[in-house]
Amino acid sequence: MDNSEVAKRLFEMAEMLEFKGENVFKIKAYQKAARNIEELEEDINILRQRDELGTISGVGEAIEAKIKEMLDTGTFKAFEEIRHTIPQDIEEIIAVQGIGPKTAHLLYSKLGVKDLQGLLKAAEEHRIRRIPGMGVKTEEHILIAAKRQLAEGNIGRFPLGVALPIAEEISKKLLDGILIREVRIAGSIRRWKDTVGDIDLIARSDEPEKAIEVFTVMDNMQEVLEKGNTKGSIIYKGNIQVDLRIVKDDAFGSLLQHFTGSKEHNVKLRQIALSKGFHLSEYGLKNATTAEQIPFSTEHEQYERLGLQFIPPELREDWGEIEAAMEKKIPRLIEVSDIKGDLHVHSNWSDGHNSIEEMALAAKALGYQYINISDHSASSKIANGLSEKRLLDHIKEIERLNECIEGIRILSGTECDILPDGTLDYSDELLEQLDIVVVAVHGSVEQDSKTMTQRIVSALENEHVHILAHPTGRKFGKRLPFAMNMEKIMDTALEYGKVLEINSSPQRLDLNDKFAMMARERGIKLAINTDTHSLEQFGNIRYGIGTARRAWIASNDVINTLHLKDICKLLGIS
Ligand SMILES: [Zn+2]
Ligand SMILES: [Zn+2]
Repeated sequence: MDNSEVAKRLFEMAEMLEFKGENVFKIKAYQKAARNIEELEEDINILRQRDELGTISGVGEAIEAKIKEMLDTGTFKAFEEIRHTIPQDIEEIIAVQGIGPKTAHLLYSKLGVKDLQGLLKAAEEHRIRRIPGMGVKTEEHILIAAKRQLAEGNIGRFPLGVALPIAEEISKKLLDGILIREVRIAGSIRRWKDTVGDIDLIARSDEPEKAIEVFTVMDNMQEVLEKGNTKGSIIYKGNIQVDLRIVKDDAFGSLLQHFTGSKEHNVKLRQIALSKGFHLSEYGLKNATTAEQIPFSTEHEQYERLGLQFIPPELREDWGEIEAAMEKKIPRLIEVSDIKGDLHVHSNWSDGHNSIEEMALAAKALGYQYINISDHSASSKIANGLSEKRLLDHIKEIERLNECIEGIRILSGTECDILPDGTLDYSDELLEQLDIVVVAVHGSVEQDSKTMTQRIVSALENEHVHILAHPTGRKFGKRLPFAMNMEKIMDTALEYGKVLEINSSPQRLDLNDKFAMMARERGIKLAINTDTHSLEQFGNIRYGIGTARRAWIASNDVINTLHLKDICKLLGIS
């Protein structure tokens, strides 16, 4: 088990104890230990070898013993014991906004609610309001939240940020052996779609059967669904299905193209092939009259043979890309290497893990010319938001660092809360002293569409504001987009020259592809930021770039592709 797995189990333990109504200190102890393990720099297995588990803050003797048990056996007895006393799908209920483990327990013990469907039913039949302390209002909130949770349709789909790292982990394992020469991730992951149903892998091997055998017995494999000569299908840790198809060299491009999809794109491609006298399949083109089979080792060759410009995977949705490719009008899409700086970065002044200096040096190592340190404002109390006084110190600290660090400019910013009434968390006098003002909605997210739209519009009308961060507020599995009128918000952004963010955090991807496309079509400028809270999260930029590419976005649609000098000019930074 690694650090995050140990932490996750301890968090689950705390949640179950809370569900059971156990001693609150005991619950807090598990949570604290879990949090500190999550943030450990070192591998917990190595600490254990050195017999230093006790040095982790919050890990006393009792929890230490449980960690050891976990590292040896993958679980611990107390956990298994309590787990058997709790309904299996209770997690679904705890995940509903506004319901914690305690409420879940109340609903379970009073009404026998065990899963999301049961919760919905109980709310619709007005049984929840009859529980002492719950009431009509609470019931209404639960009903809305439960419906949202169901409507989100994420059941059976995985966020890209979950699926892609697993696909990469499996690809690497397969390449570590000698049987497989090349592995490519295909399917919707390769198109950077924000949620995916399963993982599609394509590989090259001279011994397909043996390679499939290796695939079906790999670590973390939970169940084999299919094992053929050239195809295998398994359920991998985390309950995600992984399909592997193997070919020899000649048809690799055709196979990759076929399994990259999308279905809609491929349907249109087959029509084009037919009009030229060919049948298109995963094996390449087949001459309709002579039945001669023409396999392609690269996708480029296959598109070319069909008279089309090469179409990047992210565009393959039948959103006009085939027509554009016929006229050789596929644009040059933005790439990770076009990014010159990150305009949404947190430090340990608010809820980040690293100092401003560490963040700046990491960004410099990436070749960035600038970063905007945008720590949270005072209202974000859980995120240790900065009071006005601390923000002034923050500005001074950045001035000081800019004098001693060369090769990168640290911009002094904020991620200022847009308060429920549309005013901002800092005064105009204070905002004026900052280089870049990023604004965002964090609290009171349940407002109705009219109120929320007006709230954001008011913020965008403020002359000191530059960027609206994570505009819709969605978080995979946790929160749907705010109820809001995006047309109106975009009209305002355009009118006042404000920038909309594509937030690259794999939990968010916000704006999503469709909204990003809508913004681009209207001529609104975008910023692709990571919203990083630690050094590693700078790497999340690829998710934002993937989303932007799906929206046909080019480098010049995005402000943080500008050189330092030009972005300063654009935003009026001295
Ligand atoms: Zn935020
Ligand atoms: Zn942020």
